[in-house]
Formats: sequence, C-alpha cells, structure tokens
Amino acid sequence: MSEMKKYNLFIDGQWIAPQAGEYIDCVNPSTGEVIAQIAKANQKDTQGAISAAKTAFKDGQWSKLSVKERGQRLVKIADLIREYAKELGELESKNTGKTIKHTTFIDVPTCAETFEYFGKIEKELSDRKLNISAPVDSSVSYEPIGVVGAIAAWNYPLIFFGWKVAPALIVGNSVVYKPSSLASVAVVRLAEIIQDVLPRGVFNIITGSSEAGKELAQSADVDMLTFTGGTKTGQEIMKNASSNTKRLCLELGGKSPNIVFADCDMDVAVGGAMSAIFMNQGQMCVAGSRLLLEDKIYDEFLEKLSEKTKSLNIGDASDATTEFGPLTNTAHRDAVLSFIEKGKKEGARLVCGGKIPDGIEFQKGAFLEPTIFADVKNSMAIAQEEIFGPVLSVIKFSSQDEAIEIANDSKYGLAAMVWTKDKQKAEEVSRQLRCGTVWVNTYGGFYNEAPFGGYKQSGFGRELGVEGLLEYAQAKHICRDATPGGRSLVTSWF
Ligand code: NDP
Repeated sequence: MSEMKKYNLFIDGQWIAPQAGEYIDCVNPSTGEVIAQIAKANQKDTQGAISAAKTAFKDGQWSKLSVKERGQRLVKIADLIREYAKELGELESKNTGKTIKHTTFIDVPTCAETFEYFGKIEKELSDRKLNISAPVDSSVSYEPIGVVGAIAAWNYPLIFFGWKVAPALIVGNSVVYKPSSLASVAVVRLAEIIQDVLPRGVFNIITGSSEAGKELAQSADVDMLTFTGGTKTGQEIMKNASSNTKRLCLELGGKSPNIVFADCDMDVAVGGAMSAIFMNQGQMCVAGSRLLLEDKIYDEFLEKLSEKTKSLNIGDASDATTEFGPLTNTAHRDAVLSFIEKGKKEGARLVCGGKIPDGIEFQKGAFLEPTIFADVKNSMAIAQEEIFGPVLSVIKFSSQDEAIEIANDSKYGLAAMVWTKDKQKAEEVSRQLRCGTVWVNTYGGFYNEAPFGGYKQSGFGRELGVEGLLEYAQAKHICRDATPGGRSLVTSWF
C-alpha cells in the first residue's frame, strides 16, 4: 500500500516540517476518506515565512527585475498549470467535493489564464505621464508594496491562488500564501510544481491553522493583506491589521439577489437561476441565493425550476457524470441543515430538497439535496444570512421599484443578476443595485479584465482587472520642475 502523501510548509525555497510536528488530515467529502495530510503551521512557522519573504523582497532578485522579466515567469507558471491540469483537477475535486467537470473546465483553466493575463500586463504598470497645466514634468510610477500576506477560503482554492498570487508577483512583491485548512491539497501540490520558477523566498506557503492567518494579519512585517473569507473573520483581520496600518483588500460574504422579470426568456432564466444557486453546491460568495420572482410568472417559474432541480444527478464528485457533488465537509453540511430547519420554523414553504439524499452511497460523505424554499420574506434569516450552501430563498415582487428595494435590503453587496428582455429596464435596475457586479441575462462570468469585489459588508478592494492589479502597488508621483530658467513660484516664494 502506498504511503499517505504528507505536505510540508514551503518556506524560503524549501519544504520544511512544521516546528510542532503536527499535521492535519485532508478528507474527501464524497467518501469520508483521508486523502493526504498537510502541515499545521504555528505562529513561529508563519514568522519564518514572513521573514523569508521580507529578506527576498529586500535582496531584489525579484522586486528589481523588469515587469517584462517577471511576466515571463508568470507565463511559465501558466504553462506548468496546463501541463499538470489533469492531476490538479482531480486533487481539487477530491479535496473539496467540487465536481470533476467543474475543476476541469473552470478551476484549473481559470488559474492558468489568470497567471497568463497578469504575466502580460506590462503596459498597465508603465509610468503614466500626467497632463498638468503648471510647468512641471510629472509622472506616476507603480512600485511593489513589500511582503503580501494572502489568506483564502475553501470554495475556489486554485482560482484564489491565481487571483492573489499572480497580481502580487507581477508588481514585484513577495508573498506568504495561506490556503484554507479545509482545501489546501491542490494548492500545495501546485506550489511543488512551480517551486523552481521563482527566486528563493519570494513565494512561501503555510497551511493548516487559523493561527497562521492571525499572524499574517498581526505581523508588522507584512505590508499588505489580501483576504477572501467570511465577514466575521474579515472584521477580526481589520482589527489585527491595524497594528502596522497595513493595506487591506477584503473579499467577504454575499447574499446576492437574482431578479427575474416576467418579460424574461423563461427557459434561459431558469437555467441561470439553477446555476446561480446550485453550481459548486451553492458554495459561492456570489451565489444567487435570493431569487426575486415577478408575481405574474411566480408559479410557472417555480414549477419549472423545482422540476429541473429534482432531476440533478447527485453523486461522487470524481465521477464525470455527477452534476451535484457533496458539500465541502460534514460540519458545514450540518450547519446548512440547521438553516433549513430555521427556514421551516420561519414559515417558508419547502418546495424540494431539505435533507441528506436517500441511499447508502450518500451516508458517508457530506451530501445534501439541493433545496428550494418558496414564499420567503426578505426579513427571514434564510434571506438575510449567508448560508453558503445549496439553499434557495424565493421571494415574490410586483414592481420594478419593489424588486430594487428588496434586492438592496441586505447587509451584503457582492453581486446581482437581472433577467429581462427590456434593455432599458435592465440598465435602470443595474445602476440602482448596490453591489460590485451585475450580470444581465447571464450569470457568473468572471473575466481577468473585469474588477470583482463588494459593497457594504461584502468587503472592499478589488480583485482582477487593472483595479485589482493596482491593489498590490504603491503609486508614486515624481514631479520635476519644468519652469523656464528653473525658478518656479515655490522656489522664489521667500
Ligand atoms: P473563513 O473566514 O472561516 O476562513 C477563510 C480563511 O481565513 C481560511 O484560510 C481560514 O483559515 C482563515 N482564518 C480563519 N480565522 C482567521 C483569523 N482570525 N485571522 C486570519 N485568518 C483566519 O471562511 P471560509 O473558509 O469558511 O469561507 C467561506 C466564506 O468566504 C463565506 O463567507 C464566503 O462568502 C466567503 N467568500 C468570499 C468571496 C469573495 O470573493 N467575496 C469568495 C469566496 C468565499 P483556516 O482554514 O485555517 O481556519
């Protein structure tokens, strides 16, 4: 029998055992089996990683390369991800419960594309001449911030790795990356694959404990922290990060409204609503977890949606025919089940799902049926709290203004969807929604060119696009006197 794979910490270009010698099990949520172990980093391990990143930043082997040279290395990383795509996709699926279709067609290619996109973004980091009427020759240049700490959630491990590491590196920063303890395996394997592409200490990876995350937030040697996770954790990080006023980018929770008007293309909108809540088993920050249906189509739409939902093929995530895998672990599945109980108690009508599927094959893993509640009021907990699972709350509305009112009545503001054939209505509604992304007659498109992030308690800062790139840069204004004879008003003031 082959020995269980044990992953160590990647610090200063070497794989080293955690100082306390502890490891944690990584479980396949489709089967309940342990598939690997990852190192449990403590505060000291994390300090070691931060110190390596700081030294590497100072020695300049990365930070002082040209953007073009750094970009070539990022493109090399993209090539390696593509070369190892099959292995990475399988690991990601086994560790998280994401269907193999999802990891093969979305997670792995997206991660590669993001490295390639930022690898070729040289133009956006070039100096920018300013058009100032005074006699000065002014320009803005973009410089690295220093040591970037990155902490990620468990629902899109490889994608978050690309979104955070690629822009941080292209600007010239050093990185200490901490994936979720629940979903580190594919990311750590990827670190093994790309380890020789970057100079020693520029990229470090620590795993296995929230203590490591706390240290990244607290440390005065971390200059910027980018975080994807829950709003509560984000609030704690804000407090800890104030120790050295480090720059923050927080991508937090959501409770996105999916607004369907009666004049939509109904079959398309039903498909969109399904994807919006049941892709990745609903474990998406941008899940369309509140479905706002116009009264005129309420019953018909709900009927079609529930029929389609009941026909989803639930199964082992590694099986290519599976459409709906397990949740990421049993503790999370049980937390989602308790929200379902809450929904019933609040008086919402359970239309389908609501329990662990019948059948012996579903008893070991973290399975749960895709669930729809109808007749939900926006004030109910199942409409206000982020469930982060396959539970849809359907709410009725009767006018455009009412739809906007309900949609914006949330502490979150991450994304929204609008379905209508009326272009003007779509435009009016999109502009009144208080959130960072609006999808019109479509769902879930993330593009490297398009900034992504939240309003309100969904966080601040952006990922992707030029806006996301510049989160990782210091903007420096250099102002050169261009007064004829070199005597500006200021120099002759006294
Ligand atoms: P958590 O907030 O529990 O954890 C996220 C990460 O933070 C993990 O790596 C975790 O480490 C670490 N962590 C936990 N406590 C601390 C702390 N006190 N200080 C520093 N780091 C800490 O979120 P989940 O992993 O459960 O992810 C689900 C949440 O993520 C949802 O709210 C979801 O909406 C949000 N999310 C937001 C997205 C966005 O882009 N806006 C995208 C995807 C998800 P460990 O695993 O070791 O405990």
